[in-house]
Amino acid sequence: MTELEKIQALRHELHQHNYNYYILDNPIISDYEFDQKLKILHHLEAQNPQWFDSNSPTQRVGGGLTKSFETVTHRFPMYSLENSYSIEDLTLWIERVHRRLSDEGVDMGMSEVAFTCELKYDGASISLTYTNGQLVRALTRGDGVQGDDVTQNVKKINTVPLVLQGDYPADFDIRGEIVLPKEAFVRLNEERILKGEVPFMNPRNTASGTLKLQDSAIVESRGLQCLLYAVAANQSVYTSQYEMLQEAKRMGFLVPETAKRCRSLGEIIVFIEQWEHLRSSLPYEIDGVVIKVDDISLQERLGYTAKAPRWAMAYKFKAEQVMTRLESVSYQVGRTGAVTPVANLNPVYLAGTVVKRASLHNADQIEKLDLHIGDTVYLEKGGDIIPKVISVELTKRIPGALAVRFPEHCPECKATLVRKEGEALHYCLNEDQCPPQIIGRIQHFCSRKAMDIEGIGEETVALLVNHRLIENSGDLYQLTPERLQGIPRLGELSIANLLEGIEKSKVQPFDKVLFGLGIRHVGETVAKKLAKAFFSLEQLKQATLESLVAVEDVGERIAQSVFSYMRDPKNEPILKQLKVAGLNLELNEMAEMTGSKLAHQKIVVSGVFERYSRDEIKQLIERNGGQIMGSISSKTDLIVAGDQMGPSKRKKAEELSISIISEKQLLELLGL
Ligand code: AMP
Ligand code: ZN
Repeated sequence: MTELEKIQALRHELHQHNYNYYILDNPIISDYEFDQKLKILHHLEAQNPQWFDSNSPTQRVGGGLTKSFETVTHRFPMYSLENSYSIEDLTLWIERVHRRLSDEGVDMGMSEVAFTCELKYDGASISLTYTNGQLVRALTRGDGVQGDDVTQNVKKINTVPLVLQGDYPADFDIRGEIVLPKEAFVRLNEERILKGEVPFMNPRNTASGTLKLQDSAIVESRGLQCLLYAVAANQSVYTSQYEMLQEAKRMGFLVPETAKRCRSLGEIIVFIEQWEHLRSSLPYEIDGVVIKVDDISLQERLGYTAKAPRWAMAYKFKAEQVMTRLESVSYQVGRTGAVTPVANLNPVYLAGTVVKRASLHNADQIEKLDLHIGDTVYLEKGGDIIPKVISVELTKRIPGALAVRFPEHCPECKATLVRKEGEALHYCLNEDQCPPQIIGRIQHFCSRKAMDIEGIGEETVALLVNHRLIENSGDLYQLTPERLQGIPRLGELSIANLLEGIEKSKVQPFDKVLFGLGIRHVGETVAKKLAKAFFSLEQLKQATLESLVAVEDVGERIAQSVFSYMRDPKNEPILKQLKVAGLNLELNEMAEMTGSKLAHQKIVVSGVFERYSRDEIKQLIERNGGQIMGSISSKTDLIVAGDQMGPSKRKKAEELSISIISEKQLLELLGL
């Protein structure tokens, strides 16, 4: 076999294994074997760049940046769907369909029109173009006429075939919905919360947001799925909607088995009721069902309105509501001192999760609901995820029940709460002594978008504060193994991880430090702009209100907040501690060189380099998402070698066929 034949055979084989795994859910080789084969293919492709194929199975993994998403006109417009919310609406529509068809002179005889009922997947619509069985383009719906080209990202979705199976039309588009399965959504949010990031609202927004990420390596990690429901081509290839779905499945697409051909309104109603009941047991969210005239020639007769096909109708489910009892209300104090009321509920199952707590937003909301302890309340999930108390069942109020009263004092530190003119929230202003505020500020400093300190979760921060080991972020850098010893729940390993995390955080660039300070109104973007405009903390301290307002995105409110922070004598010692610890309090060259081109790559660094020190090379790799390994093994993806790399290492690398690149090549790879 020639190299090319080997490459082609491997590609073919790996596509097949992907299909077995993701579409048929029936793998015939182990993950390990798959990875080995993929590695070999990677290697062969790296050695033969002339045979690059953008649909190779190797293109599924690793990063790639889309700077801007090009707008492209759809070959076939992507229509919306008409909605109905009741069986009456639906009945009227079916009557309209019959009437129209008979007006068109279609003789249906005694039989009724058949419909294919499908689930209405709740995600982001997508249109995929295949030419000669190869995926060539993926467009979002956009306004239906034009969409955004998200091909690079869509290729990272395992259930999207890059190359088709069996027979297929030579050139066609296929439409579907990109969804984020509930489990992946819950896991993603758990991770985000651990990292101190704001959780996402719901799977649908997350799916469409993910398609527009610039870094496709993140798309890969999210676990999106693509469910298909319609083929669009110049000539209609199929005679029925139901048959089209079966054909799409045979070509290698993921088409849920849930579609059903119904021959009467009664059957359609059974389908609707069944899935309204079963929706919570599905792995992904649905927000209704779609009913389509099954016969494609009848679809063509019925045609389209300006916005939607006349031959299809969505039946939207109502938001799920449940009743439960309000046990009590607690008040949470956040990092900024804002106090949020939370309802503690008798646990109840709602749309896929057991709900124990729900947000009550603020004092006005409590008053509006006229909430009393022990009340029976109705819950709904906002966007089907975050539970909210919608209303109270007044007929079930217990006589003598106590009205819920917003407290006058902070539940944590007893300071008097203040509600400023025109603000919805109450605040505790005792920022220096109120424990949740102290803990919240340090947690924010440690969070991923700030100092990204691994090994220190929310609980650990609370533990350290409660044991009086730290009072502010600067204190973190004064922790030693000795001082941490004997703290309950902190084993030796956790101590080591924690200290290592703290040490590593010292390389975070200036703008992250600035963001981590938690200056009110200074978010990630503003921190970046301030860092760029003033270069260093010293200069920021000298900044006047005018020069602050002159920075893009900085208004008076932000300027005032930064100005006061920098001049507050209270902050002086903390900033000093950070400086002594060696944090980046000014912009430096390295700090600019971040990205994710090396995401998930395990890299060994060896030898002596010209432009950077070995430590700097390692930093550079980590800043770009790579993982440093101490020694070469079969897990190694890449070796960056300088002069004087040991011959035994070189030999080992060759044996394992791991690519070796130079400092120069690394910099090129990173676009530096
Ligand atoms: P709407 O967004 O309310 O206009 O509903 C139309 C959207 O429903 C389409 O753009 C599709 O993305 C989506 N959809 C989800 N499931 C289906 C399905 N089985 N058939 C057709 N469209 C669907
Ligand atoms: Zn307080």
